[in-house]
Amino acid sequence: MIIDRFGRKITYLRVSVTDRCNLRCVYCMPAEGLKLLRHEDILSFEEVVEVIRTAVDLGIRKVRLTGGEPLVRRGIVELVRAIAAIDGIEDFGMTTNGTLLAEYAQPLADAGLHRVNISLDTTDPDRYREITRGGEIARVFAGIEAAGKAGLTPIKLNCVVGKCYPEVDAKSVKEFGRSTGLEVRNIHLMDFEAGRFSVVEGGSGGDCKRCNRLRLSSEGAIRPCLFSDISFSVRELGAAQALERAVREKPEAGGACKHNWMHGIGG
Ligand code: SAM
Ligand code: SF4
Repeated sequence: MIIDRFGRKITYLRVSVTDRCNLRCVYCMPAEGLKLLRHEDILSFEEVVEVIRTAVDLGIRKVRLTGGEPLVRRGIVELVRAIAAIDGIEDFGMTTNGTLLAEYAQPLADAGLHRVNISLDTTDPDRYREITRGGEIARVFAGIEAAGKAGLTPIKLNCVVGKCYPEVDAKSVKEFGRSTGLEVRNIHLMDFEAGRFSVVEGGSGGDCKRCNRLRLSSEGAIRPCLFSDISFSVRELGAAQALERAVREKPEAGGACKHNWMHGIGG
């Protein structure tokens, strides 16, 4: 069991499998000039599995794949299969924008993924195109349907809300959730540089006192807190030591930090 110095039980590892994405959501990625990691800097599947296995040995029980968009990582179904084979994971999920799920839902379920969270900030096709800079909402709806059919349930919808977003968008997602029986979680728009974040409504993020998470970035940095620049490289330290040091130095609460985009860290 992993307990940090503030008595928090650490059971949850979020794993970013890529910094790449097929969308460009306005709050997550810059429109252009995006610096991507070199392929050799991104952890191989073997490395990712090794970190997760070590984390599970230490006491992690919940694993979530994220990104970037996890479904654009080539071979993702094979990675899911390898992770699902690790003994001791009780909850194995993925956060995805859903645009590729129509094709991937069944193979992912067959490979051993338990469930998906799908990001949806509006149900209006034009607004969706604006927010994601070009995304096609029909693909997300098809993805949600496929995930339900494949049994990747309970499906939760992540909806970013914030001052610059008209309430009508969030309301439309709430209504969609009600009519389809899917749970909707409102995530308040975060500002990393200003250290502005708050509790996720209907979720567990953003509540420092009860934070049970560690993160693994796609280039192998274990981050104990999304709102801190502290990180430990699994390539430099080895998985066990990087994980242990991250637990030891997990801050009591988040603050301002230098990075200002979510895609590289894994939301
Ligand atoms: N591409 C996948 C997706 O969109 O679900 C997974 C990665 S994405 C970074 C994970 C979550 O972070 C999404 O639900 C997204 O809306 C959220 N997110 C990204 N930037 C954010 C920000 N600045 N504030 C709040 N949530 C953010
Ligand atoms: Fe891509 Fe997800 Fe970021 Fe949108 S929120 S740009 S879908 S990684």
